[in-house]
Amino acid sequence: MEKNGSIGIDIGSTTFKAVVLNRKKEILFSKVVPTGIKIADQIDNLFQEISFYTKEGYNIISTGYGKEMVREATNRYTEITCHLKGIYEEFRTASTIVDIGGQDSKVIKCGPDGELIDFVMNDKCSAGTGRFLENMAGRFGIHISEIGGIANRISKAQNISSTCTVFAESEIISLLSQGVNTDEILRGLHLALVRRIKSMIKSIGFNPPLIMSGGVSLNPAIRELLGKELGTETLVSKNPQLTAAYGAALLGL
Ligand code: ADP
Repeated sequence: MEKNGSIGIDIGSTTFKAVVLNRKKEILFSKVVPTGIKIADQIDNLFQEISFYTKEGYNIISTGYGKEMVREATNRYTEITCHLKGIYEEFRTASTIVDIGGQDSKVIKCGPDGELIDFVMNDKCSAGTGRFLENMAGRFGIHISEIGGIANRISKAQNISSTCTVFAESEIISLLSQGVNTDEILRGLHLALVRRIKSMIKSIGFNPPLIMSGGVSLNPAIRELLGKELGTETLVSKNPQLTAAYGAALLGL
């Protein structure tokens, strides 16, 4: 039986996202909330919230690290597949997609027809992920939504040479004890993350344009510095945290 639409659910390590699409690919409902401790309850609550659609016969597609927990899923796909689908639907071009989430980062190379050419993923080390910035924001007593704007107030960046979050923290303490300007340290931290992403991009080859998705693309300093490092403009998805949920929902139509 033909379905009326599709529900995409992306359960990430940091945020829980859902998108409901009708058959015309219009977004009827969306939500982004922090991933809770009791993911099963969070899924039940979501289904209560969108019970109208589930009654009407919608496919349910899950993705993200919690995708297996969605018992009701009619299909499950990897985040790579869902990000690619969501971004290609929005931009309709070959590209290099950078998705930086809470605990992993991915670079996906997309061909002219939206096909996957190659990808590389870091989920082993927190440096190069949103968690790195969250830790650093916490250390400086700054909200995560503010840290990028502060790093962008200044053009000079301190060199943070450690590629590990724990050692980077020691470096920061040492710089602070020398009375170094905190904005310069913050910019240096952003640059350290961006350089890790740049080396991931280089490992599979940069195919312009550069398109960002994921929560860290909300950070203006990351967007600007990544573009600068690659000598290009950084494009960002309209709803960067919803990209994989949107792509999942598209795969269910
Ligand atoms: P997940 O990996 O769970 O899919 P997201 O893609 O939602 O995670 O990314 C979460 C990360 O996004 C956080 O670790 C944080 O660094 C970043 N982030 C979230 N909201 C903002 C914001 N308003 N401004 C800047 N960065 C943000």
